Amino acid sequence: MLAEPMPEALTSIALDRGGTRRRVIDRALAALGTGMRRHRAAIIAIQWTIVLCYFTLLAVPAVIPLPPEQAGILDHVTRFAQFAFWGVWWPFVMVSVVTMGRIWCGVFCPEGALTEWISHRGLGRGIPRWMRWGGWPFVAFLGTTVYGQLVSVYEYPKAAALVLGGSTLAALAVGFVYGRGKRVWCRHLCPANGVFALLARIAPVHYRVDRQAWESAPPGARTSRGHAVNCAPLIDIRRMQSAAACHMCGRCAGERGAVTLASRPTSAEVVALDDARVSRWEATLLVFGVLGVALGAFQWSASPWFVAAKQSVATWLIDRGWTWAVGSDAPWWLLTHYPEKNDVFTWLDGALIVGYIGATAVVTSVWIAACLAATAAFARVSAWRLAYALIPLAGVSVFLGLSALTVTLLKAEGLPMGWVGAARALLLALALAWSARLAWGMARSRGALAGLVAAGGIIAAASAVVWLWIEMFYVW
Ligand code: SF4
Repeated sequence: MLAEPMPEALTSIALDRGGTRRRVIDRALAALGTGMRRHRAAIIAIQWTIVLCYFTLLAVPAVIPLPPEQAGILDHVTRFAQFAFWGVWWPFVMVSVVTMGRIWCGVFCPEGALTEWISHRGLGRGIPRWMRWGGWPFVAFLGTTVYGQLVSVYEYPKAAALVLGGSTLAALAVGFVYGRGKRVWCRHLCPANGVFALLARIAPVHYRVDRQAWESAPPGARTSRGHAVNCAPLIDIRRMQSAAACHMCGRCAGERGAVTLASRPTSAEVVALDDARVSRWEATLLVFGVLGVALGAFQWSASPWFVAAKQSVATWLIDRGWTWAVGSDAPWWLLTHYPEKNDVFTWLDGALIVGYIGATAVVTSVWIAACLAATAAFARVSAWRLAYALIPLAGVSVFLGLSALTVTLLKAEGLPMGWVGAARALLLALALAWSARLAWGMARSRGALAGLVAAGGIIAAASAVVWLWIEMFYVW
């Protein structure tokens, strides 16, 4: 039976209700944005509190003995720090970027706060050309991801202090030398910058800039007493069209009556992205880095394929007398080395970890690239642009990988975790649907068939990643 068409009056009431709700949300968001600008001192107090907690949880576990095997999260500071850093901080920072934009960077990040603080007191040099190279987010993400696995950054406090502390020292050094009160590190070199920029593109809130209002506002309309806004990540606010680089710090809220914290459809930015604004580095980070390298890094330790490869290669090497390869004389800062915990990586382990991560990245990214190229030919949307439709899948993939440790730690505490399998399946299904929706939106202007082809092509591209997660969570 056909549904009765909705009477016009009811349709307009429904639309009006939707519009009213949207207006109420936008009014609240605008007030929040200007409130953040007015209460900058409170934001700075939050940042310094986090800096203090961050250094305490990084330094104390690194200088005390490792906890006993059975120690729980609340029994030992090292376990607590492990849970705080890897069980809560990293997975839920990803969630915060997808839901609120890069508010983590602008309000909470200790590294961002420190690099900006020291930049007020440093040399104030201009940013060199080499630092502006677009490939740094890709290189930094790959480097820290692979190195973190070699030294078991999630498990051992000295490794965490080295990787996180090293990054913080580099942020301080860059802040001291370059920029004046800016976040040059965050803008160009931070290893998480590329991933955060990608995820922020699908956030439902952003700082919206009304270019016309900006241009036409008299100087007296500035709300910062005539001074230009200090946008620490160096954004040209007047021309800002994307949430990718914005740290959501609120310092420009209300500027010239043109900048407002506002809601938007989650697909708006990615669907509207034109070819001129597509970054090939960003798309490569998404496909090869997040859906390839990170996936391999999350999976190798659970993989029976890794164990089988290790046994075969070790036998082959020993048969030829190359026993040095199964020696474990590497220092802890190069390969995991904790004999007291029976946890020592051999040179072969190190090579195979890099090989496994590399092979996962190559296999998944070649599959995804082939699907994108074929889809692009049929849907007549550039493959580079189409790659951005995979952002929701990338976000969920990173969250699933990072939260695997959260689940392990909470299970060890005796919490019931039987629901996790279903929740993971639901998240993967939602990510697939969201990615397909973005691809459809990108191609539908070329006709419904092109939209369907794009959506189907993205699902095909995503299938390699989904299959590997199914293997890890439900098969291995
Ligand atoms: S554009 Fe700059 S000043 Fe404005 S909220 Fe974003 S990071 Fe802050």
